[in-house]
Amino acid sequence: MSIRQKLFHRFGSRKKDPNWPGLIEAYKAWLPVSESTPIITLKEGATPLLEAKAVSKRVGRNIKVFLKYDGLNPTGSFKDRGMTMAISKAKEAGCKAVICASTGNTSASAAAYARRGGMRAFVLIPDGYVAQGKLAQALIYGAEVLAIKGNFDEALEIVNEISNQYPITLVNSVNPFRLEGQKTAAFEIIDSLGNAPDWLCIPMGNAGNISAYWMGFQEYFKAGKSNKLPKMMGFQASGSAPLVNNTIIKNPETIATAIRIGNPVNREKAVNAKNKSNGSFLDVTDEEIIKAYKILGSEEGIFCEPASAASVAGLLKTKQDIPSNSKVVCVLTGNGLKDPDCALKNNEALFHSNLEPNMKTIAQVMGF
Ligand SMILES: *Cc1c(COP(=O)(O)O)cnc(C)c1O
Repeated sequence: MSIRQKLFHRFGSRKKDPNWPGLIEAYKAWLPVSESTPIITLKEGATPLLEAKAVSKRVGRNIKVFLKYDGLNPTGSFKDRGMTMAISKAKEAGCKAVICASTGNTSASAAAYARRGGMRAFVLIPDGYVAQGKLAQALIYGAEVLAIKGNFDEALEIVNEISNQYPITLVNSVNPFRLEGQKTAAFEIIDSLGNAPDWLCIPMGNAGNISAYWMGFQEYFKAGKSNKLPKMMGFQASGSAPLVNNTIIKNPETIATAIRIGNPVNREKAVNAKNKSNGSFLDVTDEEIIKAYKILGSEEGIFCEPASAASVAGLLKTKQDIPSNSKVVCVLTGNGLKDPDCALKNNEALFHSNLEPNMKTIAQVMGF
């Protein structure tokens, strides 16, 4: 190994490399692309794997917790990993327009990549249930937004039918290229740690991401890049936990809107990942999600969206089940800036207002 390779192995992610080419180029040997695939990229991937000292301390017993901060992708969520693949393959197939149903992040990502690839983007969203930042993104990226008086599951049924009847490509996670792109996050984790972690904690909505990670971990394992497979630990919000309860939920409810999904399309794949890995599914309440969200912000300096904090909430809830000295990775799926309302309503910051603009007042309020 050269020194550069050793350093790379030690510190993992090539984020600091200004020439990072985007994940398709970086992992093309592992992806269904060829020389003739036009690569539509915003240089997604290579997100940081951060040690989480405050979370580790809460878990105890020399268990090391890392956070895969996928909120640092170009549009602020892991969806970019799948979208660079889905949109590149759609372009390769000569497609002119794409469509998706979305709780917000898929629409932001689909819009950005579709427009970059010169395609139209149609997004169906549940009216009133998409976080501000995500809606703003879809609009500025030039998507054609269709808000329905219904939930995500109903939106997904509609786009499924439309893409079957009309010449338009569906880019939800039923599109197999989405999962292909998303599996690269598992590659990056192994490239960083030098091996797979013992546990992977991840929030589940439509359950495409847990399925993609499992695919990635298996592929690297088979290629000898790791000598173990992690337990796949999938977490859902209590009001929206169809996988945990093995059912379909007609009216899912949770503050974590990105995982407000009652009938996940990747159910079978996710259950397989859980069973094959000896993992498990568990639900966390909105209160537990918000508690983890605040810990991440105020003690780790990491701002993620509520859905992402479900992975850490789940870890804290099941910490007694983790063997001592294990390595755990929690996936932080989206950026906190997506949902500023949630942060404004849920924080313990001291906010002194209406202060007279002079030094004496300020110093006094500061406690001097
Ligand atoms: C999409 C999304 C999820 C859920 O991922 P699935 O693949 O649908 O299970 C979780 N968190 C965030 C921030 C998301 O955007």
